[in-house]
Amino acid sequence: METISRKGGFVLTQWIQSSDIGKELGCENNSLGVIATDSFGRTNITGVYAAGDASVIVPAQLIIAAAEGSRAGAGVNMDLTQQEFLTS
Ligand SMILES: Cc1cc2nc3c(=O)[nH]c(=O)nc-3n(C[C@H](O)[C@H](O)[C@H](O)COP(=O)(O)OP(=O)(O)OC[C@H]3O[C@@H](n4cnc5c(N)ncnc54)[C@H](O)[C@@H]3O)c2cc1C
Repeated sequence: METISRKGGFVLTQWIQSSDIGKELGCENNSLGVIATDSFGRTNITGVYAAGDASVIVPAQLIIAAAEGSRAGAGVNMDLTQQEFLTS
């Protein structure tokens, strides 16, 4: 066996959910194995929203997780506002 000297290396991480909380709550997954959501982070369970790596695993990036969190926040706000004003 030949030893090759190196100054660095690259590691390909696995794209898997690090938490089972979505599954435990009954959330459906999409074909990539993460929680399926609409454009505002809504899952199939009313009142449960998902964002970040929990719902967008490819590409897994901080800026995308933050943007998805913002969208889910807007979704929560819209749904609560509608509940408050349209059902009262
Ligand atoms: C090795 C590695 C390198 C990366 N490098 C980059 C990079 O260079 N640039 C980049 O943009 N992105 C990078 N990423 C991706 C980036 O880190 C993620 O996309 C981002 O952190 C996702 O943010 P998040 O808030 O969705 O999830 P996370 O940052 O994973 O936060 C989830 C949090 O929820 C907590 N949690 C989980 N389950 C529960 C529970 N049941 N109850 C309470 N808390 C819970 C966890 O402990 C964690 O603190 C890298 C990821 C890895 C693994």
